Amino acid sequence: MEHHKLTRNILIGMVLGILLGSIVFSMGLADDHPLLVYVIDGLFDLGGKIFVISLKLLVVPLVFVSLACGASNLGDNASMGRIGAKTVGLYMLTTAIAITLGLMAATIVDPGKGINLTTEAQYVASESPSLKQVILDIFPANPVKAMADGNMLQVIVFAILVGVAISRCGDAGQRVRVALNDWNEVIMAMVMMLMGFAPIGVFCLLIALFSHMGFSAISDLLAYFLTVAGVLVVHFLLTYGTMVRTLANISPLTFFRHMAPVMAYAFSTSSSNATLPVTLETVEKKVGVKNEIAAFTIPLGATINMDGTAIMQGVATVFIAAAYNVDLGVADYLAVILTATLASIGTAGVPGVGLIMLALVLQQVGLPVEGIALIIGVDRLLDMLRTVVNVTGDAAVSAIVAKSEGKLDLDIFAGREKGYSI
Ligand code: ASP
Repeated sequence: MEHHKLTRNILIGMVLGILLGSIVFSMGLADDHPLLVYVIDGLFDLGGKIFVISLKLLVVPLVFVSLACGASNLGDNASMGRIGAKTVGLYMLTTAIAITLGLMAATIVDPGKGINLTTEAQYVASESPSLKQVILDIFPANPVKAMADGNMLQVIVFAILVGVAISRCGDAGQRVRVALNDWNEVIMAMVMMLMGFAPIGVFCLLIALFSHMGFSAISDLLAYFLTVAGVLVVHFLLTYGTMVRTLANISPLTFFRHMAPVMAYAFSTSSSNATLPVTLETVEKKVGVKNEIAAFTIPLGATINMDGTAIMQGVATVFIAAAYNVDLGVADYLAVILTATLASIGTAGVPGVGLIMLALVLQQVGLPVEGIALIIGVDRLLDMLRTVVNVTGDAAVSAIVAKSEGKLDLDIFAGREKGYSI
């Protein structure tokens, strides 16, 4: 199917899923009603789950093969180091900007004003890992285990090592490189096959979700919800728009248009990780980033770069502080910026992980972790929105790094040339 038709169908699937789901919810059916049991939680939920599982299936092989190829093509350590430093630097910078915007907006709007603390819900924080553990976890002891666990940072490290070693092996390396390039095409073809099912997959996910999702929680938390959503939009349009315009010298509108299907995946799966195969394919074949840059920046971004999540954390911290009548000083704000930026490293992009990281941030500034119970009611929907921002941020940084390395193909970006096949 042509790309724009597919995009259109995915968007139709999204809208239909949300609409029909909301209608089912508004019918107020009993939990054991056959429509819910067999159709929504049976058929559609099954379809949605199979779709997400199929996306996840491709993540590890794709990241390994694609990145090993990319690293073997780059070859020398100096350019790897330079690209790595630029990418990580930009990821940290955009996250810091995101959380600062979140904190500023929340301070101005003050969404926690007059919040009634009598909440029944309880939130039990998960144990958050120490910084030492986070760093240690980057190093794989066993590549097969890293892949089996889906530990993305470890898979990334292993793939880079393999790629660099390939580039040092002369003829033998060349043979492996050719085989890996072929494998890369095979896995990309699997991604394309799966994308053909996206309209149905997205529809199933959203109808199953929205049939159970009431919006009453939103009206209680309207100020909080709108503050987070508003900053997400501002960061998305202004920060990314300005960055791709000035640093990558490309049209933000075309960039956002290319990214539309990726956003639909991110919205419906709430997972940067599950969206990764589609992000990678779009960034290479539509935005025009060469494989050696995309294969490194995109998987890394799906793991360590979560601007949308950082925005939620900034707003949530101010909100919870206000609800508990705690005054935050400048040092607290700086601690929030630092912790949230660091906390995002090593936490995989999966649904709801933002709340676990929020616990870390709250602890850092001495706020009660139970405060998370106050915002949990609207978090599912915000998770969907912030994941869109998370993946768009990865793609924006990828384009900027590619441009600075002379590896952004403007003919592909402008649609003058079909995305090259790797
Ligand atoms: N669901 C988000 C992601 O995968 C993470 C989060 O904020 O919970 O990017």
